[in-house]
Amino acid sequence: MTPNREDYLKLILELGGDQKKINNKQIVSGLAVSAASVSEMISKLLKEGLVEHSPYQGVQLTSTGLASASALIRKHRLWEVFLVEHLHYSWNEVHDDAEVLEHVTSETLAARLETYLDNPRFCPHGGMIPEQGQMIHEGEKNTMSTFPVGTKIRIARVLDERELLDYLVSIDLNIHEEYQIIDAAAYEGPITIKNDKKEIAVSYKAASTIFVDKL
Ligand SMILES: [Zn+2]
Repeated sequence: MTPNREDYLKLILELGGDQKKINNKQIVSGLAVSAASVSEMISKLLKEGLVEHSPYQGVQLTSTGLASASALIRKHRLWEVFLVEHLHYSWNEVHDDAEVLEHVTSETLAARLETYLDNPRFCPHGGMIPEQGQMIHEGEKNTMSTFPVGTKIRIARVLDERELLDYLVSIDLNIHEEYQIIDAAAYEGPITIKNDKKEIAVSYKAASTIFVDKL
């Protein structure tokens, strides 16, 4: 599936692009697309006034871009909660169906769903669910790849991206788990994390899209 402009806006927001510049490399990792396709889409978003760009630093959402991404992510995440809590999807399975449902969900349906779910404020991947008309603020969190060996961390939020989630399921990494970083291989090699129960080597690419709390 080729990501559309809304997927880009959502990803930029999920990476913290409401508050800081996001570089193309992070977008390439998050969407599993080529650097050329990212540059092409970024120029479109710039022309439409949805993002602003500074050379060498990357892109940031404008208020229009933020409002549009927030409204869509709200619907996406409400459906995720529904699918996980009521239809027993696992966290790597929800993405594709939530992706379809978000585009056919009216504000009324989203509001009813929200009430039915008892006003959840987080999705199964740890992302914030805004109230209607509210902007998303994920808060300042850094990715696993930015911390030195020895740091104790808790998995706080991961990107809602199918390939990443399948990978996390395959290495048995789950949200809210706590670990210590025990090794970081050179040249963006794997980052090894460990707790009482397991030791896991996380690819650098994945580690740069997993947001953690420092303990
Ligand atoms: Zn989610």
